[in-house]
Amino acid sequence: MHKLTLYCNSRCVHCDIWKKEYPDDELTTMEVKCLYEQLRSWLGPYNLVITGGEALMRTDAIEVAVHAAQLGLIVDIPFPIAEGEQLPGEWVQFQGPA
Ligand code: SF4
Repeated sequence: MHKLTLYCNSRCVHCDIWKKEYPDDELTTMEVKCLYEQLRSWLGPYNLVITGGEALMRTDAIEVAVHAAQLGLIVDIPFPIAEGEQLPGEWVQFQGPA
């Protein structure tokens, strides 16, 4: 599981992520792609869940998920999260070429 961002647009009472200052030191798009590449070389194909915060708050969430899938990973992003409740069955899965 990779917390792509700590940004979140929900305000769940049991969670304090949204109360924190927005971090300004998140990995860049290229750094995330490099991280997935390194993990792929160390671990082989693995299942990757990209989450947050709310992962889709980052505009590059789909780009990095597609990159990971092209590396041979099975990638899941749970979405949308509305007020802390994931809607039933609402996951997006990316799979690269077999
Ligand atoms: S959606 Fe998740 S990260 Fe966002 S406030 Fe709720 S529990 Fe925290």
